[in-house]
Amino acid sequence: MTDRIIAIADGRNAKALPQSGSSGEPGTIRDRLGRQIRDLRVSVTDRCNFRCIYCMPKEVFGPDHKFLARSELLSFEEITRLVRAFKRHGLEKVRLTGGEPLLRKDLDRLIAMIAQIPGLDLTLTTNGSILAKKASALRAAGLKRITVSLDSLDDRVFRAMNDVDFSVSKVLEGIDAAAAAGLGPIKINVVVKRGVNEDSVVPMARHFKGSGHIVRFIEFMDVGATNGWRMESVMPSAEVISKIDAEFPLQPVDPNYRGEVAQRWRYRDGEGEIGVISSVTQAFCRDCTRVRLSTDGLLYTCLFATQGYDLRALVRAGASDADLAGAIGSIWNLRADRYSEIRTAETASLRKVEMSYIGG
Ligand code: SAM
Ligand code: SF4
Ligand code: SF4
Repeated sequence: MTDRIIAIADGRNAKALPQSGSSGEPGTIRDRLGRQIRDLRVSVTDRCNFRCIYCMPKEVFGPDHKFLARSELLSFEEITRLVRAFKRHGLEKVRLTGGEPLLRKDLDRLIAMIAQIPGLDLTLTTNGSILAKKASALRAAGLKRITVSLDSLDDRVFRAMNDVDFSVSKVLEGIDAAAAAGLGPIKINVVVKRGVNEDSVVPMARHFKGSGHIVRFIEFMDVGATNGWRMESVMPSAEVISKIDAEFPLQPVDPNYRGEVAQRWRYRDGEGEIGVISSVTQAFCRDCTRVRLSTDGLLYTCLFATQGYDLRALVRAGASDADLAGAIGSIWNLRADRYSEIRTAETASLRKVEMSYIGG
């Protein structure tokens, strides 16, 4: 079967699957830097109703942009089978993402299917635009937690960043509805772009302080090849912390687990915590246990990869569960990614896959 699969994969410009079976028992698999598989992100759609300037800029994702056809998307059954195959290698967490995952029709059906797999923490990242309508159904399907992205409380700044004139108030309604449905405490992602929303950092912290929700400030990253990333547009997390600390004194908190992406800080007055994700200024590749499944079923071992491995071809060619787990293990065995640790101006301009497709 391997030859056929490589042929299909080549047709999609994917990397050829490794020939050998994986070494090691399920659950013990490690990559070349000794890292295990813990966290899978699944992009359930490459479409989005926002055009965030740092993710899907309008000049590239305009009316002529070709999104994937329905037949190219992994079905819910295919996604669930692959999640089970990853689980054999010790997977602990699944995050549904995109694009905007809540745009995928009947997503609650997929959530119910994955929620049945024992021992998996299932969560989802959304722009919150239609969350007010969907929160109860998501909870009823088995979702336990949610992350909502919101870059500013200033309507003018937020509308300019999402670039579709979407208001802050609707996202706040979504956050409230999710909390009321039992999806809290909610994580709120803020991408900080120098000169665009840096003045939104302290108001954001102030607004959610004492709410039980956790705001996480993310350094603007050079994902994809279209967002015009420059180092000068990155506001280092250290600066975010010192700005907030000047108004609301902070102290560092130990990570919840090894490999946690966000560094945690708590308010000294006991009114909760915030996080910073410093993927540019303090790379955390050495503990990276994340793997990504694109909307059309390519496995990417790094957010900054230029090619993926075609698991959809394998599934659609009739691979058994053992074949799927074996292929995943072999791919993981070969992994040596540490892009953020070796980022240079040259690597930043590589043609990497877009975040909306690979899953943020
Ligand atoms: N549409 C959903 C959302 O926005 O929450 C989920 C997909 S989005 C690609 C996942 C996360 O990636 C969001 O929190 C978003 O802010 C973040 N993100 C997108 N582009 C980014 C970039 N260039 N640098 C840092 N974070 C980015
Ligand atoms: Fe859409 Fe999320 Fe990307 Fe914004 S960050 S364009 S909401 S996928
Ligand atoms: Fe993991 Fe790649 Fe990000 Fe490093 S750059 S933390 S290897 S996804």
